[in-house]
Amino acid sequence: MDTRLKYKEHIARAASKGLEAAMELRRLRGLTPATARQLFTSTVAPVVDYASTVWMHACKDKASGPINRVQRVGAQAIVGIFLTVATNVAEAEAHIATAQRRFWRRAVKMWTDIHTLPETHPLRRSTAWIKKFRRYHRSPLYQVADALKNIEMKFLETINPFVLAPWETRMQSDIEAMPDSHTVPGGSLQVAVSSSARNGLVGFGVAIKKQPPRYRKLKLKTFSVTLGARSEQNPFSAELAAMAHTLNMLVGLKDYRITLLTSNKAAALTMRNPRQQSGQEFVCQTYKLITRLQRNGNRINIQWVPTSADNKLLGLAKEQARTATQKDAVPQGSAPRMKSTTLKIARSQAAASKDLPEKVGRHVKRVDAALPGKHTRQLYDRLSWKEASVLAQLRTGMARLNSYLYRINVAESDQCACGQARETVEHFLFRCRKWTTQRTALLQCSQTHRGNLSFFLGGKSPSDNEQWAPNLEAMRASIRFAIATGRLDAT
Ligand SMILES: [Zn+2]
Repeated sequence: MDTRLKYKEHIARAASKGLEAAMELRRLRGLTPATARQLFTSTVAPVVDYASTVWMHACKDKASGPINRVQRVGAQAIVGIFLTVATNVAEAEAHIATAQRRFWRRAVKMWTDIHTLPETHPLRRSTAWIKKFRRYHRSPLYQVADALKNIEMKFLETINPFVLAPWETRMQSDIEAMPDSHTVPGGSLQVAVSSSARNGLVGFGVAIKKQPPRYRKLKLKTFSVTLGARSEQNPFSAELAAMAHTLNMLVGLKDYRITLLTSNKAAALTMRNPRQQSGQEFVCQTYKLITRLQRNGNRINIQWVPTSADNKLLGLAKEQARTATQKDAVPQGSAPRMKSTTLKIARSQAAASKDLPEKVGRHVKRVDAALPGKHTRQLYDRLSWKEASVLAQLRTGMARLNSYLYRINVAESDQCACGQARETVEHFLFRCRKWTTQRTALLQCSQTHRGNLSFFLGGKSPSDNEQWAPNLEAMRASIRFAIATGRLDAT
């Protein structure tokens, strides 16, 4: 621990390890941007993020410099920008999450996870202490707690490391191996469960088909339950709740063969092999009920039926589930809040704004008003590293052209070799007389957009409307032109 709680050393250590990983990534030439990005998130980001919840609160302003350098080197490995490009622009071009965003993601998950610990866990009890405002000796997690104070975490479900001991038998799921219904002394019972989420509500419906011992009539029963608000529950938890609820009603049965039908594969798999996961309380209840039912000679198994199978009983259950989530339905009872749903809400709330800061990237903002956006993947992902680098140079304006080289004191003048004007990206692409022969293909792309920098570099110009999509054909022509001139090649 840092006794002064400045965490400088911690940040420096994380940054230097991350830088090492990022440099290694940069050394791998010949990767496409898509592959490089994937490698960045799997090899560089985890190295930096390790234990970041401890020091992330101290990683701002000046202290975040070394971390930002890792991001820029990573962006250079992905799309080949210059290291002088502002970090936010580099991240937007390479389409990687900002370091702060990643730290927050982790911190929010940790904060939610702490609230799902069993009551006996010492960390669970310390959450109230962390949340309290104090001027000194604030917990590193205070800012996370403060940002998420509007999200109800008190009644979150408890998630244990395990549900069942390793030696306890799991629910069977292979229906074919079961004997025919005639050989069962009691009778057979088919239970179809289905969930529905709409109108801000989550509910489930159940349809039961009971085939009592011989000489009695077949019975059909349906019912529905509104489980809770969509901000607390999800369709998956509703399926699990439906199974627990139904089995609770069947406890008195004897010698029946009970088959649970569901069209939710995740729920069926969870029942068969429960893990340390959300919805565990329902699974626990179900298993307790199964043990009781089995003591009375019942046999229970679960079957996943794909929606395409058009099962009649499941159709009935679905109908019931939909009535449970009608507009004016009121949740019955109180189910524990699901961690997965809460985490999703918490993450969306804690996410920082994505816009580029005002002061950075004047050129890139002129080229592309849609930054940061998903379209950058579309632009870069199909390109080779060399092509990507050319495109990134032209888009960011930090390219091997005299206007930029002069700014960093590499060239003696910002004038173009043709002697007509400053060698800017626009001059190079559209006007310079030295490259007239190479430019013919570029000009054939469009009659109307000649001289439009955004159009030729895959960007959105301010005049474009909502339906705008980058013109990849023109973008590729620009790249081919730039490579043909050889002007951007390193000497
Ligand atoms: Zn020129």
